[in-house]
Parts: sequence; structure tokens; C-alpha cells
Amino acid sequence: MPSSPIDWIAAELDQLDSSGLRRRLVTHEGPQQARLRVAGRDLINFGANDYLGLAADPRLGQAVQGALEIEAWGSGASPLITGHGTSHERLEHELAEFEGTESALLFASGYAANVGTITALVGQGDALFSDAKNHASIIDGCRLSGAATHIYNHADTDELRARLAAAGSYRRRLIVTDGLFSMDGDLAPLAELADVARQFDAMLLVDEAHATGVFGSRGRGVAEHLGVEADVHVRVGTLSKALGCAGGFVAGSQLLIDWLVNRARPYVYSTAQPAAGAAAAIAALQIVREEPRRRIDLLSRAERLRHRLLEQGWRVGRSTSQIIPVQVGDAEATMQLASQLYEQGLWVPGIRPPSVPPGESLLRISLSYAHTDDMFDQLLDVLGRSGQFKNR
Ligand SMILES: *Cc1c(COP(=O)(O)O)cnc(C)c1O
Repeated sequence: MPSSPIDWIAAELDQLDSSGLRRRLVTHEGPQQARLRVAGRDLINFGANDYLGLAADPRLGQAVQGALEIEAWGSGASPLITGHGTSHERLEHELAEFEGTESALLFASGYAANVGTITALVGQGDALFSDAKNHASIIDGCRLSGAATHIYNHADTDELRARLAAAGSYRRRLIVTDGLFSMDGDLAPLAELADVARQFDAMLLVDEAHATGVFGSRGRGVAEHLGVEADVHVRVGTLSKALGCAGGFVAGSQLLIDWLVNRARPYVYSTAQPAAGAAAAIAALQIVREEPRRRIDLLSRAERLRHRLLEQGWRVGRSTSQIIPVQVGDAEATMQLASQLYEQGLWVPGIRPPSVPPGESLLRISLSYAHTDDMFDQLLDVLGRSGQFKNR
């Protein structure tokens, strides 16, 4: 066979295969819910970010159908051209009201919201300060921005302060952090971060992707939970996790949003999501407002499950949320444990490098309001019989 300049990919994939790091897609049939049908089998789903159990809620589907009759499907263009319809407008208005901010802006995804916002706020001549465990979309935003990027150790505000003090004369400074960290399930020290930001006249961006709808008395996220909303200049959220929809958003001052409309490239150059998708998110927000018991239940069940895992002798790190890492360490042992669970009808994703550093592989248990106590019992039953994987 004649060789092609693209053939190098085969060797690279073989390399991933032989080190046990090759990823493959799994297709499920039917809706995304607490039980997932894969290859004809029903699995209990501990992998999704559908924290409030809204992804398959019929009220979202009804909102989509209602919007389809009025606005049909495709949005046709980016928002600044002709893509911004009445459902988009209404969702942005309701997001601002929900978040208690002057304004809000919709992006095609949370990934796009982070990349677009970070690159609009800082560039060459500016400095970025980013937690070592921030989400990939934040990392990519930092890289694309052209700003000098300082990575500080996870949640280490002393190191952050020292780095800011040593940073010298930059035009602008931006501190960026996840509110709730996606692999460890722990919260950012937002009160301390706000102090540092104030001391050094830095902007503070908090990505609430995993916390929107879950944390805070109104479900606004970790900043609300910790009482520091007024100190957060830029709030990024996603509709794709607890809200069970798709799309990302930024909430903040009108000034901030006006700037993003002009300068956030993923906003300017990407087609708006279908209006019916925005209508679904409006319905989801209403459920978050009207059914607080979903988030309250979710977090108290998470606490019970963590307690029982600790009793079994597992390490769960510093999680205080609906994301519970079972820390195994070794990548191969982690994947073996994940496949043992899979054989028993439990889908719990194994997380290994490059998503986590080598030696820090873990099972990521992601809880949903839709899970039942019986599902927890099944999970604990199998984990209780898997002691050989502990602390590897
Ligand atoms: C999932 C996630 C995103 C991206 O959101 P999408 O809407 O899925 O693109 C951004 N930040 C964090 C912390 C996330 O976990």
C-alpha cells in the first residue's frame, strides 16, 4: 500500500493501545438517565453529570416541542448575524435573573464560554493565574490568550499570593478557578481567592460548571454557597450538567457582557444553538428554582455515600460534593476495577492520565438525584468485595 503523510496516526494509536491509554466511544441506546442501556444491557449510570436528573425530564422535552412550533429548528447563523432568537434572548434574561447579575450571555458550550471569555479579558502584556487542577477548557483559554500564565498548586492561596507579588508590572491580572473541581469534587477556597484578588487588583473568574444548580441556597453555585458572589467579577456556567441541556454561559455586569459580545471569538464566530435548546434550558432553570429539594437531597445522599465508602476503607480525597473520587492510584488497577464494576452492571468511569497526573488514577462516582438507595447499595456491595484494589 502506498504510504500517506497521515499514516503516522496508526503508530501513535498503537502506542496508546500498548500503554493502555487508548480511549474508545461507547454508544448507549435511549435516554440519558440513571439506568443506561448499552449493548443490550442495563447499567446503573454513575458516569453522567446529570446531577439533578433533568436530562430526560419530560418537561424539557415539552419545552423543546413548544419552541419548535414557533421557532422551528436551526438557528442559521452566529448570534450577531441572524442567530439570536426570542428563546435565546429570554434565556439570557432569565439566567441573569437567576444569577442575580446585570446580564448574561449564551455560548455554544461551557468550553467555548471559558475559551472566549479568558481570551477576551487578557492578552499579551497581561498575567493569568490558574489553579493546577482547572478544567481543560480553562487551560486552553489560557494558552490561546497569549497572556503570561502562572499555574499555582491546587487551592494553594499562599503560593498564588507569592506569585502575584513576584509578578511585576502587567497591564491586567486575571485569577481563574473551577468553583467545584471536576475530578476531586472539592471546592475552591473562594473567600481567600477573593482576598488575594482584592489585594492585587486582579479580576476573578469562577467556573461553576459542576456547581450551577447544585450548590448555594438558590443553586447559583459555590460563590453563593460561600457568600462571595459580589467578589466574583466573571461567572462561567454550563447548561450541560445539572441543567440537563447543552450550551454555556457567562453572567456578570452589563459592561462585561457588552465586551464579550464584541470580543469573545467563540461567541462571534460560532452558530447559536437551536432556539428550542434554549427553551429547554428555560424549563430546566424553572425546575431548579422551584424544586430545591433536588439539590438538597443530592448533597445529603452524597455525604452518606462518602461516609459508607470511608467505612469500607476507600480514600475519597477532599470531596464535599456530588462528585466522589475513589482514589486507586495505579492506572491499570483503576481500569480493572472499572471493568469489574461494569461486569456487575455498574458504569463508573475510570479516570487516568492524561486527565489526572500519573499515579493519581481514580474512579469518578458522579451522583444524580435520579439514583435510588438500591443503586447505592449495589455499588457498595461490589466495591466492598474489591478490596484488592485499595490504595494501589
Ligand atoms: C464540563 C466543563 C466545562 C465545559 O462545559 P460544556 O458545556 O460541557 O462544554 C467547563 N468547565 C468545567 C469545570 C467543566 O467541568
